[in-house]
Amino acid sequence: MAEMIITNSRVLTMDEDRPRAEAVALAGGRILAVGSRAEVEALAGPSTRVVDAGGRTLLPGFVESHLHLVLGGNELTQLQLGGVQGFDELARLFRAHAAKNPGLPLLMAQGAAYEILEHPVTRHDLDRVIADRPIAMMSPDHHTVWANTAALQAAGILHGAEMPQGHVVVMGADGTATGELLEFEAFSPVLALTGDLHLQLGIATGGEPEPWPDAAQRAKDKEKVVAGLAHCAMHGITSMVNMDGNRYTCVLLQELEAEGRLTARVKVPFHFKPHMELSELERASAMAAEFRGDWVTSGFVKMFMDGVVDSRTAYMLQDYPGTQDRGAPLFPPERFDEICVEIDRRGLQIAVHAIGDGAVRQTIDGYEAAQKANGKRDSRHRIEHIELIDRADVPRLGALGITASVQPPHPPGAMDFPMSTMDHVFHRHRWQDAYLCKTLADHGAPLAFASDWPVTDVSVMRGLQAALTRVPFAGAADERVGLMEALRAYTAGGARAAHMEGLTGRLAPRFAADLVLIDGDIETIPPDSLGRTGIALTIAGGNVTHDPAGMTSGAV
Ligand SMILES: [Zn+2]
Repeated sequence: MAEMIITNSRVLTMDEDRPRAEAVALAGGRILAVGSRAEVEALAGPSTRVVDAGGRTLLPGFVESHLHLVLGGNELTQLQLGGVQGFDELARLFRAHAAKNPGLPLLMAQGAAYEILEHPVTRHDLDRVIADRPIAMMSPDHHTVWANTAALQAAGILHGAEMPQGHVVVMGADGTATGELLEFEAFSPVLALTGDLHLQLGIATGGEPEPWPDAAQRAKDKEKVVAGLAHCAMHGITSMVNMDGNRYTCVLLQELEAEGRLTARVKVPFHFKPHMELSELERASAMAAEFRGDWVTSGFVKMFMDGVVDSRTAYMLQDYPGTQDRGAPLFPPERFDEICVEIDRRGLQIAVHAIGDGAVRQTIDGYEAAQKANGKRDSRHRIEHIELIDRADVPRLGALGITASVQPPHPPGAMDFPMSTMDHVFHRHRWQDAYLCKTLADHGAPLAFASDWPVTDVSVMRGLQAALTRVPFAGAADERVGLMEALRAYTAGGARAAHMEGLTGRLAPRFAADLVLIDGDIETIPPDSLGRTGIALTIAGGNVTHDPAGMTSGAV
């Protein structure tokens, strides 16, 4: 018997056997039937809740293939500087935030543009904003932090610090830190002032909190996760690949599941860091074995091969324009190959953050080495970002079955990131190789779409708009994909990339009851209006997780 029927809707199932339908019936957290109104409405009993979708588009719940749930949830309460320009506005917002938060040990801001001031930001600029309390602000890409003197002092890095390769406390001519901190290890002493750095250990060190947080601390941490989950449910997301985390993250999620508060399926990696021995991968295997339910899973290893473009820490095959610097890989090539072989031998999936064309090539080489050593298997290793790629490497993705996990909001000019990055970072003749999407797909790479939230807005509808409206860079091909292809990359494609294609990403009988209802007919909404289109309803595992108009709460 159907518990709920959603009818009078334009259903795009992402199921090749039956791509379109009018209604869906749900029961026991699963999809009972997909079909015409008559077929599905016949399954209604006296206690079935029948929801009239009013002609709206019903899709499989969105799969967010790359985000940072705990970071995002944590940041929702911090000062937001997206779109802020110039000292006066920066100072006004920071001072207002300070007045509202007298007790905070660190006033943290997010989304500060690299060009927020007319010159590179220093601690002296931020001292002029607020001098008597530690303050800091993070770049949108989350790879640079600027801190004032009080923050640097409290963190113990005003006079510099030993850092692993690629992580830099930038020093001035006077022998003190300028306030600019590049990459996680450099700014983690400042973030630690907030008292919640243990939530970021996965991405910081790959370690676990010590001592293990007690029930009171876990309860506090879970509220941050719940805030992040609620924000994602609002945007129709029912599954997500969390691109950082550790066993502690999994434990928090599993506790939320037991409490009935987990509103999305979450996959969490083991983070492998350059300093680790191969034997530490035993922890990755243990996580994979421990977390394998329908809601909380692990089973993959995340690594960073390089940094990001704006701070010029991405590893390129050629020097950056006007410099003799091309960044550097975070793993030596032979060692990286060895690591890939070992992860692959354990039957685990690999996801590597690779932004520069040098990093992308070295990552593909590692995956190729794994395949050579262990034979071809259904590994679905993936590369995250791919912001620049050498033409010779494009067909290698498809040939090796490597998923291109790309973010439609990221190309400069496509959504919130400024075009200025293109001139600063990429040689003109390479613009044709930057932020490829359609070209990668046309050469056989499976696509998975994401936001990298909180790096960009988690809104899938805005991401769809970016994917469908992006203007080609000068001299470059049109990298837009079609609506159906984009929707697939946000649903079935993402599910496949996460090894979840038997559970979610499609609307078909026995699949999880993960659905999203879009305000309007998505196929007739002009692409440049998609970003303003609302989410009427989100359902994950049969549970309503977002229902702003109370569509499902009416009379049975
Ligand atoms: Zn990320």
